[in-house]
Amino acid sequence: MTYSPQIGAENAVRRVVIVGGGTAGWMCAAAIGSVLSKLGLSITLVESDAIGTVGVGEATLPHIRFFNQKLGIDENALMAATQATYKLGIEFKNWGNIDESYIHPFGDFGVPINRVPFHHYITRAIQSGQNIDLDEYSLPVMAARRGKFTLPSMDMSSVMSTYGYAYQFDATLYARFLRKFSEDKGVIRQEGKVTSVAQDPESGFITSVTLESGTQIDGDIFVDCTGFRGLLIEQTLNVDFDDWSEYLPCNRAVTVGSEPIGPAGPYTRATAKSAGWQWRIPLQHRIGNGYVYASDYISDDEAAASLLEDVDGPLRGEPRHLRFKSGARKASWNKNCVAIGLSGGFLEPLESTGIYLIQEAITNFIELFPSRDCPDPERDEYNRIMDLSFERVRDFLILHYVATQRTDSAFWRYCKDMSIPDSLQHKMDLFKSSGRVVSYELGAFKFPSWLAVYYGQGIVPRNIDPVSAHMPETALPGELSRLKNMISGAVNKMPNHTDYIAENCAADPSEVM
Ligand SMILES: Cc1cc2nc3c(=O)[nH]c(=O)nc-3n(C[C@H](O)[C@H](O)[C@H](O)COP(=O)(O)OP(=O)(O)OC[C@H]3O[C@@H](n4cnc5c(N)ncnc54)[C@H](O)[C@@H]3O)c2cc1C
Repeated sequence: MTYSPQIGAENAVRRVVIVGGGTAGWMCAAAIGSVLSKLGLSITLVESDAIGTVGVGEATLPHIRFFNQKLGIDENALMAATQATYKLGIEFKNWGNIDESYIHPFGDFGVPINRVPFHHYITRAIQSGQNIDLDEYSLPVMAARRGKFTLPSMDMSSVMSTYGYAYQFDATLYARFLRKFSEDKGVIRQEGKVTSVAQDPESGFITSVTLESGTQIDGDIFVDCTGFRGLLIEQTLNVDFDDWSEYLPCNRAVTVGSEPIGPAGPYTRATAKSAGWQWRIPLQHRIGNGYVYASDYISDDEAAASLLEDVDGPLRGEPRHLRFKSGARKASWNKNCVAIGLSGGFLEPLESTGIYLIQEAITNFIELFPSRDCPDPERDEYNRIMDLSFERVRDFLILHYVATQRTDSAFWRYCKDMSIPDSLQHKMDLFKSSGRVVSYELGAFKFPSWLAVYYGQGIVPRNIDPVSAHMPETALPGELSRLKNMISGAVNKMPNHTDYIAENCAADPSEVM
């Protein structure tokens, strides 16, 4: 996050108003308060305890570590305060077919040979009839399966540098942590419900919000973090929403916590079910569980019963139902309002991208931080980047559904045969034809992520890179077993995930919620 001031004092933004104090609101407050502190901005965050937050969001992507590092947050302190565990990837069960499982890891598969990506050699081995288990060529997958964790090495020549990690945490505690951080940086928190929004009659810019108590808060820039309500972006500025339900038909979730049984694994699990999928996310003090489903294919009661059947420990509390729609705001920056978080868009939580997309939005907003008149070029560039970020996550999520061989329920038959966006069709065609992965600068999921899902769900390319075909047939088994041994030797030496947490970032047991 960088900022180069280029604005005259009279046109400079002085007052930023953030409406909403969920994860999005407090991440914005912390980042703007910290990164733009030189500008002497006054930052006010309005939130309503009576309305509350969405109260879900437990699994993250590795990018969050860089967000926290920029703010100077101590990782161990954050992990202890949020009941966090480490996450090396997501296990997908029953997606390609029932009784199959693969892990999408935060890390590489193998190493390039003769500058050709490793998977071309794997494809060659599969094509020649060898029984290949891709898991064995990924350190984070093997570590996850064996419940091991340590921080990656900074020595890029070591196999221990071939992975990243994220957190599994309580997002409500994360927001609480960031609230204290932000207030220490001078952010003012204002409790109360916004009941009216005033706009300039000519420009339509938002000029103030007024609370139920009558308190009026004026601002130059407004950040809408009001969640699915979209109080400013939708209810005030009427910006439309692109609904992607035809590609991502899950639109509801039922969630419940449970007592941990056994050691917490360093990975999230997503198990495909008859009308959606169920998550299992181990934190230090509890397991988060939720069934994400399509209401066209199962009732709320049936989904709740199915969730409870597959929870593996005593329950903590009652199941809670949520409704959502996958899609994105057509222009999440409109006039002097930027919608960040659920108000800006939401893609169902299969790959834990909610908090990642918030982080992307904040980073881009700070990099394009405007003068008070919010010029069109900054706004357009922000919207261009966010559109691409959402679309690329969308395509990756759809891949999990369309690349199934399941036909055992109406839901899976729909997914298998649904039409998909041209952008995804192009990616899949290229991979099937030549094993090449379309790469872009923007987008959360890079090369190894796509490989994990393609191979994990049974898509193997027809052809391989011509250079990989030149390795003598007899040399390949040796290369493969050398790599396998190096990975399993390294995993043997890693500590158990739970021991690593106990030594470095255990939460205070008296703070169990
Ligand atoms: C089922 C499900 C599972 C998810 N799982 C994950 C996950 O594993 N990982 C991940 O990264 N993301 C996940 N997400 C997404 C994640 O929950 C959200 O991205 C994140 O919590 C941010 O929410 P928010 O701050 O935008 O909205 P909210 O949490 O809804 O906060 C909205 C805020 O606005 C305030 N507000 C609203 N109206 C007013 C008003 N009139 N006046 C004053 N204040 C107001 C509320 O009080 C609240 O403070 C999941 C989402 C769902 C639905």
